[in-house]
Amino acid sequence: MIIKLKPRTTINEISHLTEYIVSLGLSLQTIEGTSHIVINILGDTSKIDAKSFYAFECVDEVVRIQKPYPKVSKTSPQKTIVTVGQANIGDGSLTIIGGPCAIEDFESFDNIAKTLVEYNLTIMRAGVFKPRTSPYSFQGLGQEALDIIKAVKDKYNLAIVSEITDKLQFELLEPYIDVFQVGARNMQNYELLKALGNINKPVLLKRGFSNTIDEWLMSAEYILAGGNKNIILCERGIRTFDNTYTRNTLDISSIPLIKKLTHLPIIVDPSHAAGRWDLIEDLSLAAVAAGADGLLIEVHQNPQTALSDGAQSLKIEKFIELVKKCRKLKQCLDSI
Ligand code: PEP
Ligand code: MN
Repeated sequence: MIIKLKPRTTINEISHLTEYIVSLGLSLQTIEGTSHIVINILGDTSKIDAKSFYAFECVDEVVRIQKPYPKVSKTSPQKTIVTVGQANIGDGSLTIIGGPCAIEDFESFDNIAKTLVEYNLTIMRAGVFKPRTSPYSFQGLGQEALDIIKAVKDKYNLAIVSEITDKLQFELLEPYIDVFQVGARNMQNYELLKALGNINKPVLLKRGFSNTIDEWLMSAEYILAGGNKNIILCERGIRTFDNTYTRNTLDISSIPLIKKLTHLPIIVDPSHAAGRWDLIEDLSLAAVAAGADGLLIEVHQNPQTALSDGAQSLKIEKFIELVKKCRKLKQCLDSI
């Protein structure tokens, strides 16, 4: 971290500031330039709030060099691979996760599960508790959905990803769920993140729709700081000035950025990004081309009658086409 001091800073002010830096357990170098004095703080500054230095009147500017998320940051070429059942997310392969926004009944869930298995897909999404914008919208089947999960999971040997909306749901969900999804609305629910940091099961951490990459990575740091290394990041689109035609804007640039900044795998949810089924395939291909480790896609037997997110859900046939095309593209990319 570098602190630039204001012109005409007195020796007293400098010693006051340097004493404070030393009291934080850090060391420093003072560099006298032609126009400014600069203090270079040495040591682990990840736990220091850079803004706190502005409380000193002599401080003109503070520049952070080390990211405030040291555990999430990429410090070597080594990548984190998160194993979910038979899939290794982040090992260079493409993991496609499909399933309904919310579980509605056994038959339709079973039917989608059968399709996944036919196409060698091993992870299914399954909404149990739905965080809806309106309190009057379908909130998920809760325990009934868990019973359906149990039956289908055992039948097809699928791993299940489902959203946890409150840390109090942990005991209830844990026996049925292989990956805990933290939804966009809960990305900064720090009590939930801390609770998920204390377990070993994988966590799928979605980006909040109004959150920066740094805020997203700070949330991942919460989970890693607790000791849970099994984190999969999920880009699901953000709010921008123009969401006239799409629900959100898919931030494709976050994929290569996450790869540069962190060692964690990243998957993409084009369903919640677009909010409309007719863009899902193109966005999926774009995500694969940009280096995503996987996709999270909403699939429904009959989207017209879906109790949630029907407009963005793919019919099973369309989903199969998407899987085939994305696999082909991945093969091409692997060969270049
Ligand atoms: C979901 O995946 O079901 C969901 C609600 O997504 P998000 O949190 O991204 O809105
Ligand atoms: Mn949904």
